[in-house]
Amino acid sequence: MNPKVALLDMDGTLYDSMGNHADSWARLCREEGIDCTRDEFFLYEGRTGASTIDLLIQRQWGRHATDQEKERMYRKKTEYFNQLPEVGPMPGARRLLEEMKEIGLGRVIVTGSGQASLLDRLQKDFPGAFSAEMMVTSRNVTKGKPHPEPYIRGMQMAGVSPSHALAVENAPLGVESASRAGVFTVGLTTGPVPAAELYEAGAAIVYPSMEAFAEDFHILMFNLLTTSAE
Ligand code: CA
Repeated sequence: MNPKVALLDMDGTLYDSMGNHADSWARLCREEGIDCTRDEFFLYEGRTGASTIDLLIQRQWGRHATDQEKERMYRKKTEYFNQLPEVGPMPGARRLLEEMKEIGLGRVIVTGSGQASLLDRLQKDFPGAFSAEMMVTSRNVTKGKPHPEPYIRGMQMAGVSPSHALAVENAPLGVESASRAGVFTVGLTTGPVPAAELYEAGAAIVYPSMEAFAEDFHILMFNLLTTSAE
């Protein structure tokens, strides 16, 4: 293993945004007459909006969501999200990105989100950390996480194979997507999902926070490189 590129999830990894997402999904459900709990949305994290809407409608009414419903409801959910107070970068995320830059590790965003507002904010909150061409969003893929396609697309964009990539994820479906793409996956527990679920989804190593990962990043990289040299 010799990582050249980091594939980074956005919501719940670089941004502390999952609470706002859960709140806006729960509000959408209330208004649409769909039963839900706020916490369930932490488990759906990583799915595209369309597939979450399909899951909710199937459970409530026993049929698939129409394209029109997916579009209309995702637009509403996005609107509610944008009305909530702006979320900040995950503590430790800036430091991690600086450490990556310092050792020349490339950086690609791999997110299930298609929200232009969040993507724009990356440039503001992490100046110089990402380039606009190095982003996989829900617009670039036909199958979202937990399918491996988003991570495969990320590696294609960066021109690397799995042995030259490293993924960073906070949700079981995201970890599953990255590990099924063959990538060494770092799991972070940044919400209510326990570490055991991330290991079960395929994480190679799990840190209790982004700060803990940033703190340990050089040691992990050193270990990966020396292990592969042996
Ligand atoms: Ca995430």
